Amino acid sequence: MLAKLKEKVWAFEDRLTVREQIALATTALCLFVSFAIAFGAAYVGRQETTRLLSREMIQISETASDRMDRYFQQVFHRIQSYTKFDLIRSAVSSDPKVLRPALDRLNASFSDYTWLAFVSKEGKVLVASDGFRENENVAEEAWFLKALQGPSIEDAPDREALDRAVRNGKDEAISFVKFAFPVYNYNNELAGVLVAAIHWREIEEIRSAMERDGDQLVVVTPSGEVLLGSKDYRARYPSAQVAQMRKAKHQVFVDHGPSGEALSGYALMDGHRDYPGMGWGVIARRSGDVAFAAARQMFWTIVGIGTVVAIFGILLAGAIAKRVAGPIHQLTKAADRIGRENGATTLPRLRGSAEVIHLSTSLRSLLLRIGFVERLTQEAEQKAAEEARKFAEDIASLRKLAETDPLTNLLNRRAFMEAGTDAMRYYQRYSRSIAMLVIDIDHFKRVNDEHGHPAGDAVIRRVGELIAQTLRETDKVARFGGEEFVVLLREVSEHDAHELAERIRLVIADSIIPFDGKDLAITVSIGCAAVSGHDRDVEELIERADRALYTAKSAGRNCIRIAPSPPDRKTHAA
Ligand code: GH3
Ligand code: MG
Ligand code: MG
Repeated sequence: MLAKLKEKVWAFEDRLTVREQIALATTALCLFVSFAIAFGAAYVGRQETTRLLSREMIQISETASDRMDRYFQQVFHRIQSYTKFDLIRSAVSSDPKVLRPALDRLNASFSDYTWLAFVSKEGKVLVASDGFRENENVAEEAWFLKALQGPSIEDAPDREALDRAVRNGKDEAISFVKFAFPVYNYNNELAGVLVAAIHWREIEEIRSAMERDGDQLVVVTPSGEVLLGSKDYRARYPSAQVAQMRKAKHQVFVDHGPSGEALSGYALMDGHRDYPGMGWGVIARRSGDVAFAAARQMFWTIVGIGTVVAIFGILLAGAIAKRVAGPIHQLTKAADRIGRENGATTLPRLRGSAEVIHLSTSLRSLLLRIGFVERLTQEAEQKAAEEARKFAEDIASLRKLAETDPLTNLLNRRAFMEAGTDAMRYYQRYSRSIAMLVIDIDHFKRVNDEHGHPAGDAVIRRVGELIAQTLRETDKVARFGGEEFVVLLREVSEHDAHELAERIRLVIADSIIPFDGKDLAITVSIGCAAVSGHDRDVEELIERADRALYTAKSAGRNCIRIAPSPPDRKTHAA
């Protein structure tokens, strides 16, 4: 797997020039470095932003929570103070109904009240502002039961309950925060409960007034439901998260909500002085887009700078690569020309870097060494050719020597017999007729005796010359020893052979052979035999010519005799 990948990478690299490889590596390096720095900076920036904004977000949520708590505390005290009013204390003991105008007036003059009522200690609504819920029994309601003991605060019911109530056409007053207090008569006996339903309009005003610069401020119930403020980010916080926030009282966290991330500060509304608070929380949200904008901008700025650096890097890498690869390219081109173009035998001396100088020097000296070896090889080849030629010459001269008679330079017996055998085969196969002459110098002994052996030699040499001159190219003449010559004639009839023999005889007879100031004259006798179908081999033909010569000698010499046709052996045998 890894080896395969390596192989692929190599194959890819092999296709790229050094220039491309350097440019690619530089680009990758620049981009990697700039992205690494950008990510690092963005991370650090984000951390720093979170740290700086944390305080701010907590502060916003704490301020809002404090202001809401103070408001609730004031309302709480205001209503509590009503229970001490003489009007109320006396009315509850006699006829609570007389309280109606007072309750109506209070309800009208404070915008935060939606409902004020007095409930008997048995749980019956005796009197209420606008007569709302009068005579209803609330003995089972939690706020009432709690108020029998002391001050009671009832949280807003959950959304669903509110929606249900609104759907049923009931007044929204039922759903709001209820502050309820025990009311004692002048005898300090519990007379009933004074309850006020508080509208959270005031809280909403505090909340919206403090919502600035795109921040979001929401009020959440202890169960995590968003009570006030925009729910577009989150309608409900996970209960585990809310539990943790309530435990910490104030906290900052990065919330990854359904519509993006937000840096959020949380503060618990835990009351003010003797007002215990309702356990709601205020969350100040700043969207990640805004909170981390600086960090994000820094990231893209660095990426931008990195890209510009990468572009410069690529240009620079291109220039460097050109410097590095240029001489190699030049060297390759020069090397490619060697042996192809005339006069291209060496490489240029290059500069550019230590490696290039080294490479060019090494290649130059390699070429010199190759040239040296080439010269040696050439010399050796020349020598070998010269020797082969000499050897062939030697062989040729040796062959000549082996085939030549040293005195006359004519063929010797062995070479002549080869030629004769060859001619005989030709005759036997293609009926190319041949004839044989045997020539012997007459009374040669006398030449030796009278003029000396060297004179004899000179005569033999001259006779050889004369015979050779008289013959055609295709004919062969040999000295068979002593003063005897044999001539092989090809493509001749008996008649032609006889004519030629006659010419030889005459040429020799007419010649004067000068030796040592003397003129020597000699004659020859010639035996002639034309080939016959009865001749078994060339020896037989020569034998017949030799017998004819004998007849010529017997007939008085200086003449020619033709050998008779040989007897038919088969007939003879028969
Ligand atoms: P004929 O007419 O019967 O042929 O008489 P001839 O004297 O020529 O006969 P013969 O064959 O008896 O003599 C040949 C002589 O040639 C004998 C020998 O001493 C001589 N001879 C042989 N070879 C050479 C040679 O190479 N050089 C010289 N100078 N003489 C040679
Ligand atoms: Mg002789
Ligand atoms: Mg002889």
